[in-house]
Amino acid sequence: MLAEIRGLNEECGIFGIWGHANAAQLSYYGLHALQHRGQEGAGIVSTDKNYLKALKGEGMVSEVFTPEKIEAIAGTGAIAHVRYATAGGSGIENVQPLLFNSTTGSLAISHNGNLVNATELKSHLERQGSIFQTTSDTEVLAHLIKRSGYATFEEQAKNALSFLKGAFACVILKEEAMYVALDPNGLRPLSLGKLGDAWVVASETCAFDIIGAEFVRSVEPGEFLVITDDGLRAERFAYPQERSICTMEYVYFSRPDSDIDGINVHAARKRLGKQLAKEIHIDADVVTGVPDSSISAAIGFSEESGIPYELGLIKNRYVGRTFIQPSQDLREQGVKMKLSPVRQVVKGKRVIMVDDSIVRGTTSRRIVNLLKDAGATEVHVVISSPPIKSPCFYGIDISTSGELIAANNSVEEMREIIGADSLTFLSVDGMVQNIGRTDPGPKCGHCLACFTGEYPTNIFPDTVLPHEKEKVK
Ligand code: SF4
Repeated sequence: MLAEIRGLNEECGIFGIWGHANAAQLSYYGLHALQHRGQEGAGIVSTDKNYLKALKGEGMVSEVFTPEKIEAIAGTGAIAHVRYATAGGSGIENVQPLLFNSTTGSLAISHNGNLVNATELKSHLERQGSIFQTTSDTEVLAHLIKRSGYATFEEQAKNALSFLKGAFACVILKEEAMYVALDPNGLRPLSLGKLGDAWVVASETCAFDIIGAEFVRSVEPGEFLVITDDGLRAERFAYPQERSICTMEYVYFSRPDSDIDGINVHAARKRLGKQLAKEIHIDADVVTGVPDSSISAAIGFSEESGIPYELGLIKNRYVGRTFIQPSQDLREQGVKMKLSPVRQVVKGKRVIMVDDSIVRGTTSRRIVNLLKDAGATEVHVVISSPPIKSPCFYGIDISTSGELIAANNSVEEMREIIGADSLTFLSVDGMVQNIGRTDPGPKCGHCLACFTGEYPTNIFPDTVLPHEKEKVK
């Protein structure tokens, strides 16, 4: 849906490639495919085996890079990042990959996710003499690596990763190798692919498709991959914990053409729509979806209910981001510029409007108003996920319960606030069973924390580094 004006934002996308003469250029295409995961900044760091070279800037991928600039960072290995500022502020210093130079070689990191113990780790590191240049969680990892005291980089990195708590999918670049790591709960998606002899890693498989790479497998929770010119070696930095992939990746964040752990996102969303139609019965004339992320669920709802699917709302793809201003008037105008009702489709009709989620409720209210202003006689809102009642600590910017309409209102109160004729949410069980994962346990490998309040990790762990423990004694 309309991330920028709804308040539910993607959390970043990462990409890495090793062993290809056009690594920087292919990273650029990979970032294009991941653009929906972050529009505030983009960067590529490449290696020619001697030096790491960085190119990054604020804005969209197409604004940051030019062919000449990419040519200047040509290399055979590269990591890349698109950013939405969930942890830390905006500003060029926080745009990733973060690059660190030292007398023992350079190091670059791309990170997707949010650490729940970043503040504790930062405090400990600052007491040890670290000075941070950014407000990003990611810099913590670089300091932990440099301070670990182990002899080899691999040992240093594995030791550093073992202190991180929360969600992290990381790709790390050195002059002579690329390293990949995923948190022990596997909260964020991370896929491994091949392009000829080159290894590729990306937040979503749609980044493989755009460069012609083949999916090999998902990166496993707690895994640490070492990729060099000698090939790939799979190691671990931690034992895997209960798998807890972010459910919102299936419901909303990921592109419909991506597969997560072998499940196509479009197909999963269609099943959610079908399940919704099984759970409720509404007399209506047309079903429509809020573009883009709710279209698949709307098609599924239509197929199951037998109510025809129509294009009742269209998205204006050529609206820039700059108009999105904090003032209420401009926000209202923003919805009108981004979405238009198709009057001929909705006029005089009882409309079922399928959406993937409701965060604050303000955007839903505006879309219901758009449809009613266009002549819809009834607007029934059906949501292809359960009510979001709890904040996310893993990289999605739902940070306080206060901003969540479902945390503070009953479904009937929400219906009244958004001005709909009815409001229905999908059940938690209906969602989990229809996404299609088969992991053991009642959650089938999902994080459901924003729906249920049950977090897969400790949220505020008392992390103490080994050298700090000695001091405490
Ligand atoms: S709390 Fe919700 S948004 Fe956050 S990782 Fe879990 S499922 Fe995803």
